[in-house]
Amino acid sequence: MNNMKRHVVKLVQNVVKEYASTEIPVFDEICCGLGLDVKEGPLPYGTDGTHEGRTICINSAIQNEERKRFTQFHEVTHYLIEKDEDLISQLHEYTWSQKTGYKEPLETLCNIGAAEFLMPSNIFSRLYEEKGFNVKLIPLAARYFKSSTIATTIQLAQVAPNECITSVFEYGFIPENTIKSQNQLFDMKYHVSKLKWHVVYSASSPAANRWLAKYTVFPDDHLINRAFSQAQTLEGKSKIFFPSWQESCTCEALPYRKRVYALFHLTPPPNTNQLTFMPDLLSETVS
Ligand SMILES: [Zn+2]
Repeated sequence: MNNMKRHVVKLVQNVVKEYASTEIPVFDEICCGLGLDVKEGPLPYGTDGTHEGRTICINSAIQNEERKRFTQFHEVTHYLIEKDEDLISQLHEYTWSQKTGYKEPLETLCNIGAAEFLMPSNIFSRLYEEKGFNVKLIPLAARYFKSSTIATTIQLAQVAPNECITSVFEYGFIPENTIKSQNQLFDMKYHVSKLKWHVVYSASSPAANRWLAKYTVFPDDHLINRAFSQAQTLEGKSKIFFPSWQESCTCEALPYRKRVYALFHLTPPPNTNQLTFMPDLLSETVS
């Protein structure tokens, strides 16, 4: 999967280099360069966008500008992947060996492509070198790039220097039809009837070889819940729950609006003092 992620990021970077006049590309410019036709119209509920050949359709019901921009570039990435025979065969091979469906890894790759369009990794990396690599970068980068916090959570993992997992948590009911793919460590039948903190989005850094499944429930005594109830960012040793095992690692949890954003460091994060020191040196040299 990591090779495919890198491949998609490269595809996006090449397109940006070829067609964009600014570091952060404008959608119309990219579509014009690729010869894509864009339409807006009604689509079934729950479908933000579709594409067929060179035509992209965006659901006209989307009100949120950030969500719309993310969908636009998600669909462009679908187009780019579809044209890349090498990537398609890698994807088929991967889904065959993992015995997973084709759609889920494809959607993950399109989200990674969209995040790279909206928040180019070289600019994002400069931002974390300046501010330090921590969970607070999620709201900060979202404001900086005028992107959604979900897209920013995905991109934070992509530029991460260590093995880590970024996630968005919500408090609510778990859909019953997800029980079978759930964490074996909990009695899911019990959880389904209760409001629980659970994963709604998650991304793994290129160096990490494990991922957090959607709808994984986290217990009430976890740092995620404590950060939310204390309304402050917390950091400490905590558990992370994979489908059939759990690990202890350093976790950062940031409550923001009705969600909690988390960064799980599977290997230690880089030395922040060193990182925050570097840009000062650089800016002195430049100016
Ligand atoms: Zn899609």
